[in-house]
Amino acid sequence: MLNALPENEIAQLSSGFEELDLPFKMDLIKPHQPLKYVYFLHRGVASFVSPLEEGMTVEIATVGPEGMIGLPVLTNGTVPYSGLIQVPGEGVRIRADEFRHRLRSCPTLYQMMLRYMLAMMTQMAQNAACNRAHPVDERCARWLLMTHDRVSEHSFPLTQEFLSQMLGVRRPTVSIAASMLARAGLISYVRGQITILDREGLEAASCECYSIIKREFDRLLESSDHGAK
Ligand SMILES: [Zn+2]
Repeated sequence: MLNALPENEIAQLSSGFEELDLPFKMDLIKPHQPLKYVYFLHRGVASFVSPLEEGMTVEIATVGPEGMIGLPVLTNGTVPYSGLIQVPGEGVRIRADEFRHRLRSCPTLYQMMLRYMLAMMTQMAQNAACNRAHPVDERCARWLLMTHDRVSEHSFPLTQEFLSQMLGVRRPTVSIAASMLARAGLISYVRGQITILDREGLEAASCECYSIIKREFDRLLESSDHGAK
């Protein structure tokens, strides 16, 4: 998202930026607590995760370098879910109060945040429908595709425990789904490392939710030079 900003807005923000490593499972948002920082990822992927019963969780949205973590600062509000790093990387953070102050001089960023909010609403709504309606192997394929788009590498670290937390199912279920995709030659899964072997095949194995979400993100975020479409 930062790459799409004009130079004067980057200059407004950058003196408040702190570069940092983003390790696996680092907390970015805590439920019902005001945000301390706004984050922009250079590399890596974050997840918004909602708690379920019996200590289980399910992912409600994914964020990579195309977006940001910090939409609630627009209203100084809080959210009931948590945000954490799912694939390690690097990025910048800026104090939430500083960001809100500087945002007044950044009209392009403000417009981008509004469009990103719409894109995230689509993602969250589609994820909710997907989690209810689609079989776990199709959801697993969708999740891998969305992560693959954001890491831009064919291989990334992923434990079955984490994947089960993202999909909101128990580990044996996720294990069966991952082996189905591996047997079909779409992925390999060795010692906690996922490799995407057949991207087209994985897209065919995913439910339609992947392309619905991707289309909205492309439409809303790639139109930043021309105003919202
Ligand atoms: Zn789906």
